[in-house]
Order: sequence, then structure tokens, then C-alpha cells
Amino acid sequence: MAAVTYSLLNVTAGKGRILATARSYGGSFDSFEQIFGETGVKYDIVENPDDPANFEKLVKEDTKVIYIESITNPNATILDIQAIADIAHKHGIPLIVDNTVATPYLLNPFDFGADIVVYSATKGLTGHGNVIAGAIVETNRFNWKNGKFPQFDGQPHFLVSQQGVPRSFYDVFPDTPFTGRIRAIHLNYLGGAISPFNSYLVLLGIETLSERISKSVKSAEKIVEFLEGREEVAWVNHAHAKNSKYRALAAKYFPKGAGAILSFGLKANDRATLIKFLEAVKVFSFQANIGDAKSLIINPSTTTHIELPPEAQKLADIHTDTIRLSIGLEDVNDLIADLTQAFEAVR
Ligand SMILES: *Cc1c(COP(=O)(O)O)cnc(C)c1O
Repeated sequence: MAAVTYSLLNVTAGKGRILATARSYGGSFDSFEQIFGETGVKYDIVENPDDPANFEKLVKEDTKVIYIESITNPNATILDIQAIADIAHKHGIPLIVDNTVATPYLLNPFDFGADIVVYSATKGLTGHGNVIAGAIVETNRFNWKNGKFPQFDGQPHFLVSQQGVPRSFYDVFPDTPFTGRIRAIHLNYLGGAISPFNSYLVLLGIETLSERISKSVKSAEKIVEFLEGREEVAWVNHAHAKNSKYRALAAKYFPKGAGAILSFGLKANDRATLIKFLEAVKVFSFQANIGDAKSLIINPSTTTHIELPPEAQKLADIHTDTIRLSIGLEDVNDLIADLTQAFEAVR
């Protein structure tokens, strides 16, 4: 969350508006109101982000950034990153992409016009649910000197040279003005600095990123096919699902697979059946994390997304009966057997 909030604090610097979607991670969505409201920054929510034109309709004179996620949680939707980046750049503002669910193994958002990429390394990047960490990555392709972002080049700062000359962030960090300013301002005054041991765990996790993500994505696709074949299942959300409207975007952005998060609903969508199903699984763990080595199951509306106001849950297409799976590294046949016995338990 520090990676998300520091990036947005840095780009807004106490003024203007954030343009985002209701599909954002629950904590990020809440921060628009709870943190940014207090700093005087406002936000706009694109109601149907599947059509990139809807972003452009909401870009205002003082909009400072478009903020999206490359694969959303829990419904695994995909946005047209390149089209949204083009709109941002046409209006002289950067695109920040939260690439947590995809991980750099499945997608490099810089290839499609993103200016800043943020990660919760707590998830797939580290991959074992053993650390809370984040990352901010910049390209330095964006022109911060276009007049909308004086925090980078306009204001001389206390980073004076040895000759006593005040220098801007651009002067001091010509290659990394965005993250340079975050290190000097937000990390310095707000904390959120990672410990050496946690850094070690993140770096260790990254060493196996390709092996873990390729396996979990393949398993997720098999589980999508399995769920689509079950008569108890009303719907399945994942770009690999037969009727998914994200298949074309997935082919463009995610040739290696569209992530290991998926959601589904039971036809018997009463609370008692839902709880019985969640309690019946034995291999899946009931945990709010994602991107773990262990496969996880949860009901987002009563847990991860409980803080979202009902209208935001509706916009994010999160229903009381939504079940989210995060697929880990177990043998996929064990996962399918586990879900099979849970279906039988609620029959
Ligand atoms: C979990 C998550 C976050 C916040 O990360 P923490 O490591 O829990 O602070 C931000 N964005 C996305 C997409 C996430 O899944």
C-alpha cells in the first residue's frame, strides 16, 4: 500500500484529481477517499473501464494521473492498457499501472505505454505469503517538465549542491525523478522502508518467479475448464473462460496466461450453501492473500472488499456470492479433487 499511496501522493503533490476504476484493490480504492480526501486531492471513477473512451470523458483540466490495474482482483478483468496510456499521454498525464496480479513474468506494462508500475510484493512477486512489501518502478519516459508537475522541476528543493545551489528533483535524479522524489520525501517522512530480511525474502522469491507463475497459471486454466464443466457453477470469471469478453485483450497482453486469480458463483447462491462450500475445502486455505504458494479461497464481499460501499462493489461486479480462488503450486489434480469433494458436500 505504501507503493500505491506514495506513487499517488508523489504525482498529485496535494493538488488535482486521480482518475481510477472501482475495480482497484480495495485498500487503494479506500485510500482515494480516506487519504487523498485529506490532502485536498479528488478522484473520479470510470464506471465502465472496458471502453477506454470512458477514461477520456472524465479527464479534467486538473487530472494528474490515470491509475489502473493490469489484471483485476477478484474478477480477473483486463483493461486495454495501451489505449488508456494513449489517452493519458494525449492529456499530458502519466499512466500508473498496479501490476501485482500479473507480475512481471506475465506482463511488462512499460511495453504498452505505462509510465510507472507498482507492485504489492506481498503477493506473487515474493510468492510465499511470508512478507509485506512493495515496489515502484519508473521508465523516465514521461515528460514531467510539461508544466503540470512543478514538484519535479519547478520548486528548488533543500537538496542543495555542495556549492549551496538549490536543485530540483530533476537536477538530482535525472534518470529517476519520480522514485528519487519518493525516496527523498515519502520514504523519509512517512516511513514504509523495508527491512533487510524482508528484502532478502523478496529477492529470494523473485528467483523462482517464472517457475511459480507459469505453473499456477496453467493450473488456473485447468481449474477454469473444470468449473465450467460443473453443473453447480453459475458463472466463471477469467480470461480463459469460454465466454469471457477478455479473450482478445488476453491474447494481446497475456500470451503466457492471464493470471492465477479467478472467481465463480454457485447456482445455489444462498448464504448457507456458500459457507458450507468454503468450509468443505481441505487443500484450499481460507485466506485474504493472493499469489501465495498455497491455493486460497475467499468470499470477497465479506472480507477483502467489505470496506467498499455497496455501489462501489456493484461497479466492481462483486456480488455476495462471489467466490475467489488464488491458485498456488499444489498438484492441479489435488486442487480439482478438493473442489470436487466440496461440490459433493453441498449437493
Ligand atoms: C494486496 C494488494 C495491494 C496492497 O498490498 P499490501 O502488500 O497488502 O500492502 C495493492 N494492490 C493490489 C492489486 C493488491 O493485490
